[in-house]
Amino acid sequence: MRKIKNFINGKSTSYSSNNLEIIDPSKGEQIGEVVNSNQEDFKKIITSSKNAFEKWSNITPLKRSRVLAKFKTNIEKDLDNIASIVSEEHGKTFEDARGSVIRGLEVVEFACGIPHLLKGEFSQNVGTEIDSWSLRQPLGITAGITPFNFPAMVPMWMFPISIACGNSFILKPSEKNPSCAIKLAELFQDAGLLDGVFNVLNGNKDSVNMILDSRDISSVSFVGSTPVAKYIYEKAAKNGKRVQALGGAKNHLIVMPDANLDQAVDGIIGAAYGSAGERCMAISVAVAVGSIADELVERINNKAQVLKVAPWTDKDSDMGPVISKEHKTKIENYIDIGKKEGAKLVLDGRNLKIQGYENGYFLGPTLFDEVNDSMKIYNEEIFGPVLSVVRVNRYDDALNLVNQHQFGNGTSIYTSNGEISRHFTSNCNIGMVGVNVPIPVPMSFHSFGGWKDSLFGDHAMHGMDGVRFYTKQKTVTSRWPESIASGPEFIMPRN
Ligand code: NAD
Repeated sequence: MRKIKNFINGKSTSYSSNNLEIIDPSKGEQIGEVVNSNQEDFKKIITSSKNAFEKWSNITPLKRSRVLAKFKTNIEKDLDNIASIVSEEHGKTFEDARGSVIRGLEVVEFACGIPHLLKGEFSQNVGTEIDSWSLRQPLGITAGITPFNFPAMVPMWMFPISIACGNSFILKPSEKNPSCAIKLAELFQDAGLLDGVFNVLNGNKDSVNMILDSRDISSVSFVGSTPVAKYIYEKAAKNGKRVQALGGAKNHLIVMPDANLDQAVDGIIGAAYGSAGERCMAISVAVAVGSIADELVERINNKAQVLKVAPWTDKDSDMGPVISKEHKTKIENYIDIGKKEGAKLVLDGRNLKIQGYENGYFLGPTLFDEVNDSMKIYNEEIFGPVLSVVRVNRYDDALNLVNQHQFGNGTSIYTSNGEISRHFTSNCNIGMVGVNVPIPVPMSFHSFGGWKDSLFGDHAMHGMDGVRFYTKQKTVTSRWPESIASGPEFIMPRN
């Protein structure tokens, strides 16, 4: 059984004797335990992070970038191993896990360019012989709190950029799959990172509260469910921290009657059922516009029925289990609710049994037709392999649905009409938008973030928003004493 501790000052260490179970979702069996940190762990982490910040922030950006470049090489060498750790504790297929690690790696690649990214602005002669420039300086100790569904990628949206900017970083990963964070910390340490620049604090909400209550931590980055995101945003801001808190989603994919249906159906199948629907950018609502609905539902149903649901060790698996027994029950309850609400259950993924994995948390693809916007299954995030189809008559009705929903993470439209597509991208109130692309996740050099109840705070993750979030801007105005002599001034200086 694996025993996961914290990562403090370059070493795997823990002071608390309290542990939480790590469960393999494919088998429903305990495979390890992770420390539930106490105040002693937290104090050690703060001391370590403080000392590290003093040194690390004074190392040149170019030298920091070289450590990141070595970290990138270390991840590349260990890619399959990291992906296996993700699959083992999360349950997603190996190739999907591998892809997610690569998407995280791309943020490291972006952060390697930090000397360029931190370049300031300079203006000569803002007044007579007075120059002015702005620069960006690190915040201090920064922290990240992350969800179970991307144990490598989501932390890597945060810490490479924060650390490249000269901060120290404390990661509080999901207690459900904490091993990956420790692996990443070890690989960063092997790349020559100073002790304490990257620490990992394991545990549950108690560890989160230690972070939120601490006056030593300057910023909090959060990714997880909306109720927790709201809580983190409010509490962290009240305690004087900079905060970005990304929450849940209900992403709509609109299929126009002129869409390429083959492409649309393939897009929907991958985006709705990939990773058992446990992605914040998963498509959970397909909006069929006009006459296309019957054929769309029939084709989705035909393809969804033949998906292979199996553990990650099966190379042909299309999707694995969901994360926990509680989460499986919650999804099953939503399926009951949908039926009671009057939605048409076209494909029911409950009661799926896989030989040898009878205790695993598997659910088959589930498809509801004739869903409407008064239903709970439409309004709430289910976060499982459940797709709802809503039928509307016109494009305007589809756009209204998207715009009236509480969540605003991602959306997509399938059409061959440029005018409609341009209207949609301009007028939907959603943070990440796809045109004939089902999951429009921005690359590392753009920024990732939703609108409405999908993001609380002013900054999205990675890209230039990441650099701005993890630095404070300072503007200097300077004149040398030998330049033009002047006496005291009592009015606002003017040019
Ligand atoms: P979660 O909110 O339950 O947990 C996220 C983190 O918060 C974990 O580290 C957990 O320990 C901590 N936490 C949980 N409950 C807490 C509480 N009451 N007080 C303080 N901290 C608490 O989320 P999850 O189940 O791990 O992840 C799934 C959710 O994350 C989904 O809602 C999904 O949409 C969302 N998500 C969003 C994005 C995005 O970019 N918007 C990306 C990935 C996942």
